[in-house]
Amino acid sequence: MTTPDPGAHIRQLALDCGIPALGITSVDPLPEHGAALRRWLAAGNHGDMQWMEDTAELREHPASVMPDTKSVLVALWPHHPPKEDIPPDHGRIAAYSYGRDYHKACKKRLIALCRRIEDQWPNTATRAFVDTGPMLERSLALRAGLGFIGRNRALISPDFGSYCFIGVVLTSLDLATDTPPVSQDCGDCRRCVEACPTGALTDRDFDARRCISYLTIEHRGVIDAPLADLMGDRLFGCDTCQRVCPHNRGIDTKAEDWCDTGLYSLNIETVLGWEDDRQVTEALAGTAIRRPKRSGLVRNACVAAANRQLTNTLVLLQNLADTDKDEVVRLQARQALGRFKKTP
Ligand code: SF4
Repeated sequence: MTTPDPGAHIRQLALDCGIPALGITSVDPLPEHGAALRRWLAAGNHGDMQWMEDTAELREHPASVMPDTKSVLVALWPHHPPKEDIPPDHGRIAAYSYGRDYHKACKKRLIALCRRIEDQWPNTATRAFVDTGPMLERSLALRAGLGFIGRNRALISPDFGSYCFIGVVLTSLDLATDTPPVSQDCGDCRRCVEACPTGALTDRDFDARRCISYLTIEHRGVIDAPLADLMGDRLFGCDTCQRVCPHNRGIDTKAEDWCDTGLYSLNIETVLGWEDDRQVTEALAGTAIRRPKRSGLVRNACVAAANRQLTNTLVLLQNLADTDKDEVVRLQARQALGRFKKTP
């Protein structure tokens, strides 16, 4: 079957599949973005994220992931903005993790779109990715006219601000890609640079090794005391650079129900008491918060307990420091106890 404007038809199919915004771009390489990524990696900004180094070449050349790719579909879903107030004995989690695991929720919708495309255009190849594929998602979204990349390194959509998930579909369909780029940008604003608690953002660069999202989610070792001191009550991710962004002000993201499980923070004492990954899986079933596993989450709770000076956690911290089977947890708990003692 042929349709006069396959792009418009695919956008309608996307809406039917629960994808509120879809852009279309070519499969051409992304040489400028690829070069910027290589410079960033060469400076060691990625810390422990070896997988970024391993996949840099693939990211620059989307066609290398699926050789018969002719076009790239880029999907956006809004999620809720961060909550301002949480209970005093709780730690913060990132707003994107308030809902069901976005990898699964978004992928399900992309797969539904792929099936609809394959039904409509038989012999079409499709392949869907949500955050786990070797893609420069933000660069592709930029080229697809869905937003711009802010100084906080987030994609900023005119409709959803930066509170959105990105998914990508590679397809062998050859689609027109005439979407103009969005006209907004950061202008003279530097609010995220000034607000970043750890100085991870500068005007020209971003050091993931200082970023609280990286430290709480991707980093596998002990968090050094000077950085731990600056992390506040954050247990999973950090929304500060988005919270201050004027493009997020007054945004009504119209996020779907799956973006809200009612979990907006975690009790720090409870997290310190988790003994193994099974308990973490049970407590956080269906969410993306499990990624750092028990080791990372308990480590982060040690940091937050000291920063919040939660004296009710001292016994737990001492037990972790003395006997925990995980060396990272033992060392972080010892450091946390030391930071309690330093405070008058
Ligand atoms: Fe750009 Fe300002 Fe938003 Fe940072 S806070 S991303 S500088 S508009």
